[in-house]
Amino acid sequence: MFKNSIKVGEVSNIPIKLHISFIIALPFIAWAVSTNIKSLAEIMNISYKSFIVPDYLLGLIVTVFLFISVALHELAHSYVAKSKGHKINSITLMLLGGIAEINELNEIPEDELQITIIGPMTSLAIGFTLLLISQLSLNLFIPDLGFLILYIGQLNIFLAIFNLIPAFPNDGGRVLRAYLAKKKDYIQATQIAVMVSKFTVFIFGIIGFIYGNFILILIAFFIYMRANQEYQFSLLKNLLSELKVKDLMSNDVSYVSQDLSINQLLDMMLYKSHSGYPVIEDGEIIGCVTMEDIREITNEKHQNVYVKDIMSTKIIKVSPNDDVNKAFQLLLEEDIGRLMVVKHGKLVGIITRTDIFNAFKIKQIEKSL
Ligand SMILES: [Zn+2]
Repeated sequence: MFKNSIKVGEVSNIPIKLHISFIIALPFIAWAVSTNIKSLAEIMNISYKSFIVPDYLLGLIVTVFLFISVALHELAHSYVAKSKGHKINSITLMLLGGIAEINELNEIPEDELQITIIGPMTSLAIGFTLLLISQLSLNLFIPDLGFLILYIGQLNIFLAIFNLIPAFPNDGGRVLRAYLAKKKDYIQATQIAVMVSKFTVFIFGIIGFIYGNFILILIAFFIYMRANQEYQFSLLKNLLSELKVKDLMSNDVSYVSQDLSINQLLDMMLYKSHSGYPVIEDGEIIGCVTMEDIREITNEKHQNVYVKDIMSTKIIKVSPNDDVNKAFQLLLEEDIGRLMVVKHGKLVGIITRTDIFNAFKIKQIEKSL
């Protein structure tokens, strides 16, 4: 789902990725921390003069541990989700925390509550443990180490509190929704939780405005956008939950043979106005070719290059009886526009993002949402 990220490691088969925003922000965070070391040490009553490690290095170490803290928070969500039978695609660490990409987050409120609450609890546990260590043995450590333990402990507690603010996509917003969903239906619960989110970020924005704090306004704006997105997404999942792929797919599928030249294929795209085609040989589906595949071929070669040379043989398919939500999830995960609908090895239809969005709009009108 997040294309702008790079994989940095793996824990229990869960890929850990860094989002581009995080990578860009890293040196800034490190710099911001390092310029504040002196005043932070004063607040903590630690003698700055006896620090051995240079400020910039301390800033860097704090940033790395902040990154590890966010990762541990997300891993906690992932482990509980896993124990509830969910598949975890990846964990992406972003500027304002992380996102554990949990497949098909189900709508059992009790499960959502447990999966969500464990994140802040983990941060709190790490935070208080570090504070306790620093209280018990501050004098034994070199001052730098004492400073690091105390500061990273405080950051973890901040992380827990920040995530518990009742605003989507924060954990606080999800906890609120899960709690409401125990009493109301899921859409209503989401609607109320989103309203609370918007109100909360509105207050944030106002405070930011009054104090001229640009970062606070930016965070408020970011959360507001995500709250809306979350609402649309859960609405979509809910409204489409009763539909099967066969209800929305188009049955009359145009397909091509692997021996078609690129010129012929382009003609076909022009007249049939589809931008992608399945490739069929002896009744079996063997690949898929899209306009994107053609773009990579220079136009003087269009006569001599054939569909078989450029088609992708990775066929991403669903069955006609699969839920539309599963198809939608797959389209997002693979970042593609269409899925082949295959039954007993034979292509029986195609389902596209547009099919799903149209059905969503119709359902919204039907229920006047
Ligand atoms: Zn969380």
